[in-house]
Amino acid sequence: MQSAKEFIALNKDALIRDLGRLVAINSVKGEPAPGAPFGENVHKVEMEALKIAEELGFEETHDCEGYIGYAHFGPQEKYLGIIGHMDVVPVTDGWFRDPFEMFEKDGYLVGRGTGDDKGPMLAAMYACKYLIENKIPLRYGLRALIGCDEECGMNDLPHYLENYPAPVFAFTPDAGFPVGNGEKGIFEADLVSPSVADRIVDLWGGIASNVVPDTCRVTLKGVSADALREAAGDNDRYTVTEEDDRVTVTAQGVAAHAGMPFDSVNANGLIADLLLKADVLEGAEKHAIEFLAKVTENVYGTFEGIDGEDGLFAPTTLICGMVRRQDDGSFLVNVNSRYNTSVKPEEVEQRVAATAEAWGYHVAGMDNSGPFYMDPEHPAVKLMCEIYNEVTGENEKPFVMSGGTYARHMENTVSFGCEMPNEKAPDWVGSAHMTNEGMSIDTLLKAVEIYIETLVRLQNVDF
Ligand SMILES: [Zn+2]
Repeated sequence: MQSAKEFIALNKDALIRDLGRLVAINSVKGEPAPGAPFGENVHKVEMEALKIAEELGFEETHDCEGYIGYAHFGPQEKYLGIIGHMDVVPVTDGWFRDPFEMFEKDGYLVGRGTGDDKGPMLAAMYACKYLIENKIPLRYGLRALIGCDEECGMNDLPHYLENYPAPVFAFTPDAGFPVGNGEKGIFEADLVSPSVADRIVDLWGGIASNVVPDTCRVTLKGVSADALREAAGDNDRYTVTEEDDRVTVTAQGVAAHAGMPFDSVNANGLIADLLLKADVLEGAEKHAIEFLAKVTENVYGTFEGIDGEDGLFAPTTLICGMVRRQDDGSFLVNVNSRYNTSVKPEEVEQRVAATAEAWGYHVAGMDNSGPFYMDPEHPAVKLMCEIYNEVTGENEKPFVMSGGTYARHMENTVSFGCEMPNEKAPDWVGSAHMTNEGMSIDTLLKAVEIYIETLVRLQNVDF
């Protein structure tokens, strides 16, 4: 039988060529069209991936009404799933070259989607090719699930799970090695005050729910700039400017991802604190800003009563990613929590809503997705970690994270590669979602090897 290494040497060029085919389609989510709920381009890349799957030897390919595609080989009854995604995030300026014309530089394949997630998914599909070509006896079928909406809400997977049988076990090559066996719960809500703005004519902080903002700006009328300057003292995080009868204060914080906010300084909180310290607000408006100060007092959700530790994950966190004064004079406070198993998903909703309501705010919208945790001693999880360590010569352990992958939305699913925890990329290489997104060719090929070993040896695990 052919060794995995021989297979990889023979297939390297084809894999790179096929990745170029996928990268060439700018599959950012677009307007829904018939049979293409996430836009024409996303559907186009899904069909291209299915075409590649046919070329690799998969027996059956199926477009699930444009939500997701699958390519299947082997037994249908019980199958192993590999779920990745073909949609990408938009590009910004600063690329060396066209982000949709993949090119190689210093051992890296550069282009949008090379690392997230077209490259890793294709690596796993090529691993399937090995099992197909070498006629490995299959107790479980192999099914590559071609996701189409990972980046914008994962509305693809529910459609699949409602209409098609679920895998007995699955992995998503959309994070890092060795194995991600748990993800914190993710909760987000827009909390809105009554129309209480009086002296605050503008308030703007933060660009996204899932980032602790480093900038917040407030503009007031009818207040003393001196009072604000005095309250700011020599704290250089604040800048106070005056124009006509308006005073503007800008606060500079320290940004961080909502999942890792421990060393952040929330600019929204800085502004709330300063307004209260300067004592320039009154009545209901002051009350609404006091709420913002409480929310941003720490990053653990203490004020909302959801803080806690569970020994499995990092402590529960809650940050305020955005604040706005809206046109109707209300304030919008957006909160984003990454919670562990010390609090139930419904308790998070209830407690945040109750806290907001006690302060006169109401919940204008929310999203909630509970945590998932799979025992690191589960035979499949253990095996995958072992295989990673065998192939790389490392000694890594399964990890939990605060980010979200498909694994949280499907039973018996973990994330598995293909970022290498110990790889140090050159500075110019962009990671997922960044300019000059790049994927190391060595890593990609190493991932194929790990996936081959895994798909072969998972056949011996009882599911
Ligand atoms: Zn991804």
